[in-house]
Formats: sequence, structure tokens, C-alpha cells
Amino acid sequence: MELAERLRTLPGVDEVAQRLRDLTDAYPRPLLIRQIRRSLEAARDLLRKNPNASIDIEDAVRRSLAALREPSLRRVINATGVVLHTNLGRAPLCDSAPVGGYSNLEYDLETGRRGRRDVHVSRWLEWISGWPGIAVNNNAAAVYLVLNEMAAGAEAIVSRGQLIEIGDGFRIPDIMQRAGVTLREVGATNRTSIEDYREAISERTGALLIVHPSNFRVQGFTGQPSRAEVAQLGKERGVPVYEDLGSGCVADLSPYGIQEPLVSDSMRDGVSIVSFSGDKLLGGPQCGIIAGDAMWISRIRRNPMFRALRLDKLILATLETTMRHLVLEEWDAVPALRMIRMSQTQIRDRATALLPKLTGLDAEIVDGESVIGGGSTPEQSLPTALIAIRAADVVGAEARLRRTDPPVIARISEDRILIDLRTVFPEEEQALAISLARACAVVE
Ligand SMILES: *Cc1c(COP(=O)(O)O)cnc(C)c1O
Repeated sequence: MELAERLRTLPGVDEVAQRLRDLTDAYPRPLLIRQIRRSLEAARDLLRKNPNASIDIEDAVRRSLAALREPSLRRVINATGVVLHTNLGRAPLCDSAPVGGYSNLEYDLETGRRGRRDVHVSRWLEWISGWPGIAVNNNAAAVYLVLNEMAAGAEAIVSRGQLIEIGDGFRIPDIMQRAGVTLREVGATNRTSIEDYREAISERTGALLIVHPSNFRVQGFTGQPSRAEVAQLGKERGVPVYEDLGSGCVADLSPYGIQEPLVSDSMRDGVSIVSFSGDKLLGGPQCGIIAGDAMWISRIRRNPMFRALRLDKLILATLETTMRHLVLEEWDAVPALRMIRMSQTQIRDRATALLPKLTGLDAEIVDGESVIGGGSTPEQSLPTALIAIRAADVVGAEARLRRTDPPVIARISEDRILIDLRTVFPEEEQALAISLARACAVVE
């Protein structure tokens, strides 16, 4: 059939609506009409490319409307062993108190007056860091806010070795510029000395900035002054020192082989303000935490941009729960920390118990490594036990795993799918076994 002729045979909007009248109770009419128009448009496009394509407008509309009821953001099984997987939402959330309905978000139940939303996290922050603190949307927002308050219209001095890009286009120099701060680079990429900082300080200096190089290491002929030296210099010259810690580790993870600066180390070394992400090693929801000198915290709290970057009640509820667990040292209640602390033996035991359920699969247990991820602790890994499944078509098997319900995200190594139970919740194991059996079965 000719293209023009096929296009003419397409039904009109009203006609399709009439044929789909069983949907009129389930969907608002404007939505139904819009989906019909879109499906007709898509059909015309398809016919222009291929005049012989088969077209079923009603089916297309039904499917597109049904898809509206499917959540786009949904739970997945993380079998990669990357604990803070940036693409999978970084730290998995704690179970937190429900805040459906109304809450005392900004209401003081004692006095019956208007309260501040900050109180729900500030007392916990003080416990965790030993400092007063506030929280904003993420650490990028924290960096912006701190620099803007400390050094807008002035210079911030930073070592060339710390002018980092974190990922997704977050670059320290760009944020500085938007915060109205002039970047004053000192030293060289691999080496900077305290004298470089000292010589750069002038009446234009608003802050000394230290940035934790989260996702890379400079090796070889390198050197940076210690945090304590920079803090001391700031004190001598009356310039505030701000450290962007990135991860913000509050639990000592060195027994598990993870070396990350602790928030309390920065405090001890005398910096004025620190900031860090809530959803990295803290194990909480996405947010940025700013803690430090009380005068600076109250100034930052009054910065007009704070209002634009403040936390919502859902985040506050989860953050409060996470911090309560951290203060009470209930490490296992914080999923990311529970996963990091899990030993290779524990993981091997779980894998051994799961293996018999993987009937029909060519699977074995092998030693491997999990990583922390989330731009934290490059090159540091945790020993783990992997379930390695041989599949004829690993690429196809990996894609099928992603499309199961719940989706399973796994690693591939040569001709094997690798499953790391470190990042799989025990209650997900049953669903994982079923998905693996479906996706990786050896087809005879
Ligand atoms: C991760 C990171 C950031 C960005 O934090 P978000 O919470 O993702 O906004 C900023 N600085 C450093 C050093 C980081 O590691």
C-alpha cells in the first residue's frame, strides 16, 4: 500500500477514544486524548519510515496508559558488591519512622510555638561531630553555601592538587565561581607546601580551602601540608579554614581495611568548618552536612540560599534515624555500614546456603573483592566471596537480569556473571535466586 493511503487509513482521535471507552473511568479524559494523539503521531512517524509496518493504535494507547501506573523509580537488587553505588542511589536507606500525614516539622510541641526544622538533626549532628551543624540538600550545595558565606567577593586559596572533579560535572572551580569566590590556586599538581599558602594570603583572602581527593590518588613525588598545618596558618592569619571532606566518615572503618579521614580528625586539627555527604560513608539519605565553629554555622544558617537548599521532611526523618543509630553505635541498623563490616566468611556462608537454590545453573563460589564506591576510598577493597555463574551468553544473561522484577544488577567477568551478596539484603535472596535461574539457565 502507498504511504499516503496507509496514513489515510489511520483512525481519527475521536474514533480511537470511542473504541477505548472502557478506559474512560480509569483515566482522565484529557490524559486519554493526549496519549491517543501521541500514539497516532508515533504511528505516522513509523509509517513514514516503513509503510508496511503493522500498527495497533488501541494496543499502543492501552500499553502507554498502563505504563503510567508503573513506578519509574523502584527497588533493584544490587549484586555488584559496590556498597555506595552512585547509579543505584549510593547508601541504601535505613528503615525510618513514617512521616505520612502531619508532623512537628516546624512546630515546638513543648511551647506550642513555631519551631525550626533543624532541631530534628542538629542535636544528633552535635553528638556525631562534636560540633554544631546544619544539613542541606547535598554536599555540592554545602560547598556552595560555605564558600559563598565565607568568601564571596574574596579569594579562596586552594592547592592545585585538590582542584577536583567529583563526577557528573561537579568541579570545585565551577562551584567557587558560582559562589562569587575567586579561586587562588597555589602549589603544583603533585606538590604544595605550607609556604605556598602563606605567600598567597593577603587582604583579599576570604578562606583557605582543603578538598579531600575522594576519587583519585596522586602517587610518586608528592606532598601536601597536613590539615593541622593549614588550620594553624589560618588561625595565625585570622582566615577561616574550610575542609570539604567528601565522605565524612564517622565510624572508624580501619579494622575493615578502609582508611578514610574521620570527621573528628578535622575537628581535632582545628579547621573552622567541614562539610560532607550524607549518603556516602555516613550511610544516610542524600544530603550535605555542614559542621563546625558556632559563629560560622549561624552565619551560614542565615545565608538566604540556605532556604533554597534546605531539607525536606522525608529526608530529615531518614537522616535523624541514621544519626540516632550512629550515635548509639547500632552499626548494623545502617545498611551501608552493615555491608562494609560484613566479613568474607559471613558472605561465603550466605553464598554456600544460596547455591543449592540455583538449580540448573553452572555456579560456584570464588574469592573476589567488593568496593566501597561512591567516590570514596579509591583502590581500597574488601575481600568477599562471589557466586560465579557460567552462562553461554553472559551479555544476554546480564541484560535479562536487569529486566527481571525486581531488576538485578550484576557484574560480568569473561564468561561468568558474578554475584556479590555483600550488597544484597538477606530478604532479597529468594527473589535473586528466582531471577538468576530464569536469566542464566543453561539452554540445552
Ligand atoms: C562526593 C563529593 C562531593 C559531592 O557531594 P554530593 O553529596 O554528591 O553533592 C563534593 N566534594 C567531595 C570531596 C566529594 O567526595
